[in-house]
Formats: sequence, C-alpha cells, structure tokens
Amino acid sequence: MSTNSSDVQDHLEDITGFQTLITDQVIRLTTRQELTKYNSKIFGDGNAARSEGWIVQSFMSVPITSKSGETIGCLMLGHGQEGIFTKEAEEMVLGVVSQATVALDNAMLFEKLVSANEEKERLLEKATEQNFRKDEFLSIASHELKTPVTSMKGYLQILEKQVSKEGNGGYLPLIQKANKQVNKVIHLVNDLLNLSKLEAGKLQYNFSDFKISEVLADCIANIKNAEYKHNIRVFGDQNSVIRGDRNRIEQVIINLIDNAIKYSPDATEVLIGLSEDRGYFKLEVRDFGPGIPEEKLQLIFERYYRGEENSYKTSGLGLGLYISGEIIKRHQGRMGVESEQGKGSTFWFVIPLDQDPE
Ligand code: ADP
Repeated sequence: MSTNSSDVQDHLEDITGFQTLITDQVIRLTTRQELTKYNSKIFGDGNAARSEGWIVQSFMSVPITSKSGETIGCLMLGHGQEGIFTKEAEEMVLGVVSQATVALDNAMLFEKLVSANEEKERLLEKATEQNFRKDEFLSIASHELKTPVTSMKGYLQILEKQVSKEGNGGYLPLIQKANKQVNKVIHLVNDLLNLSKLEAGKLQYNFSDFKISEVLADCIANIKNAEYKHNIRVFGDQNSVIRGDRNRIEQVIINLIDNAIKYSPDATEVLIGLSEDRGYFKLEVRDFGPGIPEEKLQLIFERYYRGEENSYKTSGLGLGLYISGEIIKRHQGRMGVESEQGKGSTFWFVIPLDQDPE
C-alpha cells in the first residue's frame, strides 16, 4: 500500500468532501470500519467504494475556532494505518490547534488593521485634497473681495465728509451705518486673507523695537466697533519696549480688545494690564462679560471655532484667536485665557522681551 503524502491528500479530499468537514466538532476515526461508515454518511452508500484501496485508515479533523467563536477552518490528518489517532493524539493536536488559532487570530487582526489603515490613508488623502481646494478657494475669494470692498469704503468716506460739509444731515446716519457695515466686511475679508497667507507660510513679519504705549494708543483709536460704550482702561507699566512685528502685535491686541467688547455687550468696562516678568512682556485684556464655559476654553483657539451661544448675535468667522495665537507663537510667546462664568474673561499673551527673530 502506497502512503506518499499527495496520495493521502487526494484521498482525504475524497473521503471527506472537504467543506462538509468545517464543523465545530472533532472527528476522530481510527478503524477501517469507522471510516467506511463515515464515508458513506457523507457520500451515501453508492460512494463508499471511493475509499477502496484504503490509503487512509486513520483520520482526524479538528476545528479551528477564532476568538470570536467562529469556526474558520479545520486541521485534517490522515494516516495509512489503523489506530493512529488516539485520544492522547487528539489532546496533542487540540493543543497545537489552539496555538495556531492565536497566530491565525493575530494574522486576521493584522490583515484587518492593514486594510483599515489603507482606508484611513485613502480618506486622509481625500480630505487633504479637499482641504487644499477649500484653502485655494478662500484665498482667491478673499483677494477678489478685498479690492472692491476697500474702494467702497473709500467712496463712503468721501460721501460722509461731503454730506457733513454740505449739511445734508438726514443722510449722515445712514452713511455712517453703511460705513460700519463695510468695516465689518473688511474685517472678515482680512481674517480670511490672513488665514490663507498663514496656511501658505506667506504671512510676513518685519521685526523692530517699538514702545508698547504707542501701539496701544493706535489700537484703541483703531477699534473697529466705533459704537462701543465700554470704557477702556490701561493699567501697569507702559514703558516696555518690545521686539516684534509692530503691525502683527497691533492686530493681536485689536482682536483681543474687539472680542472683549463684542462678547460683553452688557458691560461697560474693558481693562488692559501691562507687565514685565523675568524677561517676558505680558499683556492682559479683561472683560466683564458672561465668561466662557471651562470645556470651551481650549476650543476657542481652534480654527473656525465659534461659541454657539453668541454666533448668531455677533459677526465673525472664528479665526481671530487662531490667527492671533499663531502670530504670538511666531514671536516665541504663548497665549491663553482665564475665565469665570458670569464674571468675565481675561485673555493674555506673553512674549520674550529679548528675542532673536528667526
Ligand atoms: P470670532 O470672534 O470671529 O468668533 P475668535 O477666534 O476671535 O472668532 O473667537 C472664537 C470664539 O471664542 C468666539 O466665537 C467666542 O465664542 C469666544 N470668545 C472669544 N473672545 C471672547 C470673550 N472675550 N468672551 C467670551 N467669549 C469669547
């Protein structure tokens, strides 16, 4: 009787009909009689002749069950002699199969991870591409809006002067209102322009030494919300000389004061504190508005974040704090906020007094 392995394999296929064997039961057949019985159970009596020649006379099939309980295959063993697969052999094979199952489980898990990772990369690539298109659109849109809106502001200013000189007073408040709305649009367009420059690494910085008192005076004069009723009071040492980009620092301070006014409509005061400590200059802007819930304190510095409680009441794109934070980082500084609900918020930044511009 020949028992070379390919014969055994062919014969195993014959006697088991393969798929029928993927069961969660161990099948152990140790005599020719048992095999014949099993064989006819699978193929019917007419096919019992398939095992004629008796290449396989001992047979065992052990299910391979994954951790989740699913039978994912089976290990089949055949031998040309009777009585080979004893109970002890079954125990041993079960042990081997349980080890193999761990390896198989891991391999399946790995495969799942690889394909999940591939899917993640595909989605990321798509999102990056969409993000790129969006940034490109924002950049073009803000550039296109900037010129007409700036000339509109120019014409409105001329008109305002003309009307106040010629005494057609009835129109003056309307023109002033239009002016205010145009200023808001310019502010939004500037935020968008700054964002696209920032993202493209094209926000330019010109470092120089300047006095904080001068910048602060310009900031207060420039606050765009001309109708504010708040009293802006400055505390602390105004003699600090800072090294940085004067226009960008001015932009940050204006943004903080602007927010302090915008988000505390029922308050009447905004306080600005100036100090120096261990080589750092610190500026704080305190308001007496409703404050910011603790869980939002980190979110507000994120790009496009707007507090839903005031987003419908105030204009803005959720970019001011993000852009300010990036400007302060570029000055090797830090920006933060402390806030107590019902009492108000204090936004601050620190920058080193003696820094080397990169
Ligand atoms: P914008 O003012 O355009 O919404 P910002 O980036 O300047 O964008 O601010 C982000 C969000 O942070 C605001 O929508 C608001 O919810 C919150 N916030 C900023 N400053 C204050 C403040 N002084 N008091 C309360 N909330 C504030």
